[in-house]
Amino acid sequence: MFEALYVEKTPAGQTTTLRQLSEQDLPQGDVTIRARWSDLNYKDALAVTGRGPVVRTWPMVPGIDCAGVVESSSSPAFTPGQEVVLNGCGAGELHWGGFAQRVRVPAQWLVPLPAGLSAYHAMALGTAGFTAMLCVLALEREGVKPASGPVLVTGATGGVGSIAVMLLAGLGYQVVAVTGRLAEQPYLHALGAQDVLPRAHFEAPLRPLEKARWAGAVDVVGGHVLAAVCASMRPSGVVTACGLAGGMDFPATVAPFILRGVTLVGIDSVTCPPALRLAAWQRLAEVIDPAKLDTLTRCVPLADVPQAALDLLEGRSKGRIVVDIP
Ligand code: NDP
Repeated sequence: MFEALYVEKTPAGQTTTLRQLSEQDLPQGDVTIRARWSDLNYKDALAVTGRGPVVRTWPMVPGIDCAGVVESSSSPAFTPGQEVVLNGCGAGELHWGGFAQRVRVPAQWLVPLPAGLSAYHAMALGTAGFTAMLCVLALEREGVKPASGPVLVTGATGGVGSIAVMLLAGLGYQVVAVTGRLAEQPYLHALGAQDVLPRAHFEAPLRPLEKARWAGAVDVVGGHVLAAVCASMRPSGVVTACGLAGGMDFPATVAPFILRGVTLVGIDSVTCPPALRLAAWQRLAEVIDPAKLDTLTRCVPLADVPQAALDLLEGRSKGRIVVDIP
């Protein structure tokens, strides 16, 4: 038997409870993991609270990420005792995920824990850190260098935003953070932001082209904010769009794309191909400063995940939340 967070649909609505499950309950997959750490992302918070249509098969063990040790494997790619990381790939959405002591998934979803990264720090990064790295890799691939000019990060106090600020600053970029919580300026400066701008600045009515300011951008907000970011990019600027914390719509014009050659790069951590997945985790292991990562991370027990999820969705959380699997 093992413990798991379990969400199900009842006539009264969605319920989320801690349950004892048996290994026979686990879904199909060739690797069974003894999970040690998981983490809480925006998507997990939607799944656990039922505030967004994240769970697509019921009942579900949510949790899009986990790190742990292989317990058994019918795949030659993984052996018992090996440390592994799972992030995205449909875990916690279509297939039982990481808020459990045992997790069973297809081998191709897993990445060996990269050398130099602890399982705890892998989950302090989690999908948020992985996505921030996919944004950094896309900026690099599209030719944005530290010397190109300032790089904007929106939703900067959140999980993806905080890690994007820390990564970009560590790589020598001049980072400008955008936040709805100006009281968090000291936090953002400590992560490496050179400047902090209020989110309201990007929510005002906008013209098709605004003053050209940014060489690159990481946007987790979407909606009007993303449109405003695109309108204020420098010629040949690159925007990586990975989130919708502010909305799903995109009320923009084509002007930045056809008059400034701006590139909009979509980032999807779930369907990321295995080779890029491995490369992103290895690069994270190379560049992350674990002590700095600790300053933006807190840890909660599995039983506290429902409350932490509410706090995250209601703007009472910042940085990253690791989940301690007992
Ligand atoms: P968090 O909740 O940790 O951070 C989101 C941040 O966005 C908040 O901290 C806040 O930052 C800002 N924000 C929140 N609400 C609003 C709002 N109504 N309008 C504008 N800004 C808002 O979430 P994550 O960092 O985990 O995820 C951020 C986004 O990225 C989510 O939409 C998530 O679904 C998406 N995502 C996408 C992935 C992908 O593969 N494409 C992978 C991971 C996440 P502040 O207070 O500083 O303004």
